[in-house]
Amino acid sequence: MNIGIIGGSGLYDIDGLEAIKEHSLQTPYGDPSANILEGKIKDQKIFFLTRHGKGHKLLPHELNHKANIWAMKSLGVEAILSFSAVGSLKEEIKPCDIVLVDQYIDHTKRTDQSFFGNGAVAHVSLATPSCQKLSSQILDAASDILAQNQTVHASGTYINIQGPQFSTKAESKLFRQWDIDVIGMTNFSEAKLAREAEICYLTIAMVTDYDCWHPDHDAVTVDQVIQNLLKNAAFAKELILKSTPNLAINSECNCQTSLAKGLLTPIDAIPKEKKEELEPILRKYL
Ligand SMILES: [Zn+2]
Repeated sequence: MNIGIIGGSGLYDIDGLEAIKEHSLQTPYGDPSANILEGKIKDQKIFFLTRHGKGHKLLPHELNHKANIWAMKSLGVEAILSFSAVGSLKEEIKPCDIVLVDQYIDHTKRTDQSFFGNGAVAHVSLATPSCQKLSSQILDAASDILAQNQTVHASGTYINIQGPQFSTKAESKLFRQWDIDVIGMTNFSEAKLAREAEICYLTIAMVTDYDCWHPDHDAVTVDQVIQNLLKNAAFAKELILKSTPNLAINSECNCQTSLAKGLLTPIDAIPKEKKEELEPILRKYL
């Protein structure tokens, strides 16, 4: 199985990844955030992409998620671990805790969150938007390497706000009333596209600080936030080294058959150009 890793704020490389090749890909949607690095951890092939580009130059609303996910699919990636810095909306989810996201709420204004349209119609299920098989294996691996006072939460809801500004206190309080766990600016768009591309996908959310609802929020310094980002990146690297060589997902996973039910337009009725555009995604149905 080929594993893709998307690194968010703080996670720009992976120690221990034996580099094989760098892929500079063009996609029908433009360029991915950066070249994708192909490498190996033990015998496991890994494809690594830094989400915000080399030198962290892309804002969340500037990210070309379609190009990123298409590029991963075209390289044969079957499962993506997506690391992301988030704010916490609950007291018990502390800075430097890990949340294995299992649900999302979309609070963006993005209109580029589907590969379909222009003659090809698909409605995939997002009732269970995260890969449960990835989640249970990552939970085991993360539990083994936790620091003192650090918790890995087996589930949690992520609200994807538009950004790039952080939320207001009124928004933060509203999201808490909605019983949401963490807040970020990127991952639901990725999750939607990964499901359409039939790739198993899991967000590993790493808490940098409490969102602005928290009474301590204003007292937190930039230094403390950066410290937490660095700690989280070190944890992510350890988790990748520990978990990826043993990850087991088979192509029967529900995530990898989403179009079997979801694709409504018969293959023969999809325009030729659209079929070419979606070739890596539709290949097994063509
Ligand atoms: Zn899956």
